[in-house]
Amino acid sequence: MGPATITDAWDVSEARWDVAHARLIEDLRALIRIPSINPPDPPGADGELSAARWIAAALTEAGLRPEVVEPFPGRGSVVARLRGDGTGGDPLLLLSHLDVVPALPDAWTHDPFGGDLEDGSIWGRGAVDMKDLIAMELAVVRLLAERAAAAGLDPATDPVPGLRRDILFASTADEEAGGHEGIGWIVEHHPEWLRAAGALNESGGFSVEVGGQRLYPIQVAEKGFAVYRITVRGTWGHGSMPRPDNAAVVAARAIARLATPGDPRITAPMARFMEVLAARLPAEISAALQAAALGDADPDRSPNRSAGGDGPIEAQTVRALQALFRDTITVGVVRAGVKYNVIPGLATIEIDCRVLPGTDEAAMRADVLARLGPDLGAVCDVELVMFGEPVETSVETPLYRVLAETIVAHDPDGIPVPTMMPFATDAKHLVKLGVPCYGFSPLQMRPDERYFERFHGVDERISVHALRWGLPVLYDAVRRFCG
Ligand SMILES: [Zn+2]
Repeated sequence: MGPATITDAWDVSEARWDVAHARLIEDLRALIRIPSINPPDPPGADGELSAARWIAAALTEAGLRPEVVEPFPGRGSVVARLRGDGTGGDPLLLLSHLDVVPALPDAWTHDPFGGDLEDGSIWGRGAVDMKDLIAMELAVVRLLAERAAAAGLDPATDPVPGLRRDILFASTADEEAGGHEGIGWIVEHHPEWLRAAGALNESGGFSVEVGGQRLYPIQVAEKGFAVYRITVRGTWGHGSMPRPDNAAVVAARAIARLATPGDPRITAPMARFMEVLAARLPAEISAALQAAALGDADPDRSPNRSAGGDGPIEAQTVRALQALFRDTITVGVVRAGVKYNVIPGLATIEIDCRVLPGTDEAAMRADVLARLGPDLGAVCDVELVMFGEPVETSVETPLYRVLAETIVAHDPDGIPVPTMMPFATDAKHLVKLGVPCYGFSPLQMRPDERYFERFHGVDERISVHALRWGLPVLYDAVRRFCG
């Protein structure tokens, strides 16, 4: 009765879940209070290193022997390993990033680094991106390490009862600036810390309500990015005598052209996404999703619930869908002028292009030049600042199947659906090691929670309810894959 023993070994009592949940909440609050801002603020601050050390202390307390690395001053990452008996195959990697984007406290109703617990939510920078998943992954590791300790074993060296693969834990620096000083460095110098049959990472597995149904998008692909600096050449002059080749005026025309939504394109991951939804959702809902995705209506004005209309789709969903069916361009930085009475002869525009699988850098540049047109193209220099490839991971893997099954086991009405995310994550580094990476931070949102809009937003927060649902789901996914 080997399998029965294994199942028993993984069981967690209700009382133990309560303790784990309470600890998870306190861990998340503690992590939010460590301002691991990227870029480090003030310059030279070591928030990521502090967060890595905090996690290492928690893992050490659980009986593991974590390792903290600091390849660049202040940019710390932490890794650890739980051993299985090796009969189940290659390890499972639980991946997360320690850093957060900056927050302007004046715009928030709570201290972004206070970790307040109020109105049933934990508030602060990192609550959804992604200290929530760090705390959940830590909780899973702790539950397993405890099991080893309870059996009189040393969790740092002995296989955990019931665990048939190793579990790797890695929480790394610098994701919000490309990951080169975090996971990128580890991929190059310590790939053995990351080599796995698969990885669970941020931004997937959370619920999104569409037409009264709960979808759970599991991230299997992500868009790439191309950042360009466009220099607009005009003519300097005296402010008293306006001229049409004022670089600021030309830049404004360029911006208007760049900001116009482009044509939609259906990629393989999103075709699969639409197929699953067409099979599972009422016809009028899946038709509405398709229309929203392929149309270019302003998400805040089209009929949807957020805008007070009676359509079945939220504005945040429309916004995400539109981005997932197009190469997008966001104008992020505009600079021109030195004084009000001097006509600017030079302007710069920095744009953030997010590319679909199938769009390479040359194609994106060609799109930018086509939008500028020959007239503006003649006075603009387009310079590439950085490029990151899109990522596509197979859904035909045992790990993906486990993730989808686990969602349904915990929410029988839920609809897991493989999807792309509009932004990049550290998955782009892991693919270099051939590790399939899935966005899976299982969270069941309250109907009023706007998960997507909390990413990098003001008043970032996560409900206790979402976390309470999610921890046993993450644990169960690990159990099904590694047990
Ligand atoms: Zn993130």
